[in-house]
Amino acid sequence: MDWKPIKKSFSNWAVQPNLLDYEQTYQTFSWTDIWRELDELPEGRGLNIAHEAVDRHADGPRRDQLALRWLGRDGTRRDFSYADLKAQSNRFANALRALGVRRSERVFVLAGRIPELYLTALGTLKNVSVFCPLFSAFGPEPIYQRMHLGEAKVLVTTRRQYQQKIADLRKRLPHLQHVLLTDLPEHEADLLSLPKLMAQASPDFTIPPTDPEDMAVLHFTSGTTGMPKGAIHVHKAILTHYMTGKYVLDLHPGDIFWCTADPGWVTGISYGMIAPLAHGVTNIIDEADFDAERWCKILQEQKVTVWYTAPTAIRRLMRLGIEPRKEYDLRHLRLIHSVGEPLNPEAVTWGLQALGLPIHDNWWQTETGGIMIANFAAMEVRPGSMGRPLPGIEAAIVHKVNGSVEVVEEPCVEGDLALKPGWPSMFRGYLNDEERYQKCFKGGWYITGDLARRDADGYFWFIGRADDIIKTSGHMVGPFEVESALLEHRAVAEAGVIGKPDPLIGELVKAFVSLKPGFEPSEELKLDIIGFARQKLGSAVAPKEIEFNQNLPKTRSGKIMRRLLKARELGLAEGDVSTLEGSE
Ligand code: AMP
Repeated sequence: MDWKPIKKSFSNWAVQPNLLDYEQTYQTFSWTDIWRELDELPEGRGLNIAHEAVDRHADGPRRDQLALRWLGRDGTRRDFSYADLKAQSNRFANALRALGVRRSERVFVLAGRIPELYLTALGTLKNVSVFCPLFSAFGPEPIYQRMHLGEAKVLVTTRRQYQQKIADLRKRLPHLQHVLLTDLPEHEADLLSLPKLMAQASPDFTIPPTDPEDMAVLHFTSGTTGMPKGAIHVHKAILTHYMTGKYVLDLHPGDIFWCTADPGWVTGISYGMIAPLAHGVTNIIDEADFDAERWCKILQEQKVTVWYTAPTAIRRLMRLGIEPRKEYDLRHLRLIHSVGEPLNPEAVTWGLQALGLPIHDNWWQTETGGIMIANFAAMEVRPGSMGRPLPGIEAAIVHKVNGSVEVVEEPCVEGDLALKPGWPSMFRGYLNDEERYQKCFKGGWYITGDLARRDADGYFWFIGRADDIIKTSGHMVGPFEVESALLEHRAVAEAGVIGKPDPLIGELVKAFVSLKPGFEPSEELKLDIIGFARQKLGSAVAPKEIEFNQNLPKTRSGKIMRRLLKARELGLAEGDVSTLEGSE
């Protein structure tokens, strides 16, 4: 079915979109102009994300404005004005300083969406240390891999997370000097009480000189071969956060913004914290997980104006067959955005009927630090398309030919989605892995790892990943990490892991497993292996399906061919199998 573009009118909007004329904005855009809209640290001390997000508002007329409203799972609510955020993040920066944590050292946070996560993130940035979020549903193994690679010096977490996942790891993490618990009233043995440290610290702090290229955030992302990579982001990324907050999220003074992404992933930090605060609007944080009724109530009661969510959540709402706008008062809602996985055209148009607004898909990834391609408020939405490149971003479809790269000018041709390097939030490296970083660039382009096509009007359409990365409920899972954990099970000889398409969560993690001699396939063994993987990896990463296969397809050099496993699973053509073991 052909999906008609959705034309829009914003004549009844209280505000005009920030980007009215795409072509003109794209042509005349300059990053220098964006930089001028930021403040920089006083006395020429540089550019610091936390200053732009918090202090510049706290020191001005927005001081008492609601910056962050936290909605607790149990119905409690905590409000922070910009002045509160400044004082609390200052306290944490002072606490870090008192512990001897210096510039560039890594502060990890393993917690759900609790206020302490945001306060410690901002305090870490103020101390010019590096903030490293960990997804709270990770099991001990993914946590260990990331903290080990990132040389964690400080960990902020909760008592429960600590006991379940960290206590046994601690001896394997020689760099970890301080563990701060958010819910420990007094210091205990080798555990520090975060509330106590905060209470003892001063609410005044002067942000030290910050070079725009100073490392600010380490976001971990998965690879297909090997363990996770730490994508390095710097303070200059604030230019992209601010610019996309302006042109894509279309933030205006007085907006109430809600991003449902978890701060364990890049969207939850770039847009669940930095961009809305950089614009001085009110940012809603909900501690609870998806719940259709709760979400509709939040939209209504908090009078959310701009909502940033994800395809899996939208599909969940669709599946429930509800029409929120009939039951709830959503008149404040002006714009809805989605990111993280393909947004099917049905979901875009469902938004129109059920929420009264189309859903605007946009595209980016951990490495890009911010939104790169988007459907904009003032432009027609093409259902199924990710939209057009942001001003300041050059995107193209390229073909790799004999080691070099050719830009495909012809429309609607499939190829690698590539970006011209140089935008402010571009990752500056993979921690301790220069070779892997360099491999991402070819012929002057950053090759994103996604396949796409561009239509004659410049809209980009996602086709798929060029590699074996799995996207499940919007979370990136590296098959290698899962295979490595499975191999530790006493019965598993070999494992190949793929993403199996799923109508609700995009892809589910499926493992093909061959057994060691002496083990027989059985339902019981399947459950045992799944349980084992859940213990190690956490439920968000562990396989949901296991299939036994004593003949896993392998290359002649012994590598399991995930591509073939996937093709067979989907009943597709097997493609080039010339490297398959046993082939002529
Ligand atoms: P992450 O680094 O975890 O944010 O994941 C980035 C990847 O998610 C991209 O490289 C895409 O494969 C996928 N992705 C993100 N946004 C979209 C989108 N709008 N449509 C399709 N895939 C997307």
